[in-house]
Amino acid sequence: MVNEHKEEQIPVIKTFYSLGTIIRLRLYGGDSKFAIDEAQKRIFEIDDRMSAFKCNSEISKINNNAGGYAQEISEDTLFVIKKAMQYSELSTGAFDPTVRPLVALWGIGTENASIPEEKKIKETLPLVNYRDIIIDEKNHTVKLNHANQSIDLGSIAKGYAADEVADILHRNGVASAIIDLGGNIYALGYKPDGTKWDIGIQDPLGSRESYIGVANVADKSVVTSGNYERYFLSNGKRFHHILDPRNGYPSENGLISATIISDFSIDGDALTTCIYVMGIEKGMKLLESFEGVESILITEDKEVYTSSSIYSKKYC
Ligand code: ADP
Ligand code: MG
Repeated sequence: MVNEHKEEQIPVIKTFYSLGTIIRLRLYGGDSKFAIDEAQKRIFEIDDRMSAFKCNSEISKINNNAGGYAQEISEDTLFVIKKAMQYSELSTGAFDPTVRPLVALWGIGTENASIPEEKKIKETLPLVNYRDIIIDEKNHTVKLNHANQSIDLGSIAKGYAADEVADILHRNGVASAIIDLGGNIYALGYKPDGTKWDIGIQDPLGSRESYIGVANVADKSVVTSGNYERYFLSNGKRFHHILDPRNGYPSENGLISATIISDFSIDGDALTTCIYVMGIEKGMKLLESFEGVESILITEDKEVYTSSSIYSKKYC
């Protein structure tokens, strides 16, 4: 078919920093120029509300008032906290948005990353408990039961932001786009040539550019959690940023990478973290309860477990 709108093939692109990562937006068609600005504004708004690093964010206000009074928050933040708590229940605490005191203790992703004293970890562990998040739906407030508890939405906010951007693009007639929030990818529609997008699944043992396979998708979120994203080395051992709330250490449950392909990125983002901590057996069981969710799980023994419609190959 002859394409009568050749100019639509030129993407509108934007790259910027937010949500603790590099964001890359590539839009085709519709009112892409307007939509890309709206998308950027929305991402900044979500970061302003949900970052645990910005002292005026809603999350920081909840954290600063831990053990004290309830903090009024936006619909946005309430929605994401509620989702996070659902995933805590589903994963029986493997995923826990109150993990922040542990994250801070390890300092992973900061210049001060180091192995904390065992004693400190033991002292901090009781602070991590999603059941201590008290929500008042009517008054739109959230509070934490005990002093020094704190919330971290780092494992779910990017997913929410990707869904919100997809919504903005749909509303502005953008038919085709790649929303890349630091590796959390949402592939909107089909490529301008009408075929599906090819999203590379990074080889957790290879370089940034090496892939173990490709997910061929349209209108899907593709999110990966791995031990190679954020970590530090101590005596040759890798300490990564996904912590097991049950023992306070970086999760070591046999997986080195978990990819989830889903309709909504908020689910993919939360699920990858859940599965990573739960490990292959329990993780696969949890996935069985979700319809239309596909996975690519890679173990430290270099085994690749994947659902059928995605190309992948076993390591040699
Ligand atoms: P990435 O940030 O690389 O996309 P994730 O989505 O898995 O990876 O999120 C990891 C972040 O989530 C950590 O940096 C930390 O802030 C937080 N986190 C760590 N462990 C947990 C956990 N068990 N449950 C919920 N959040 C966690
Ligand atoms: Mg996540």
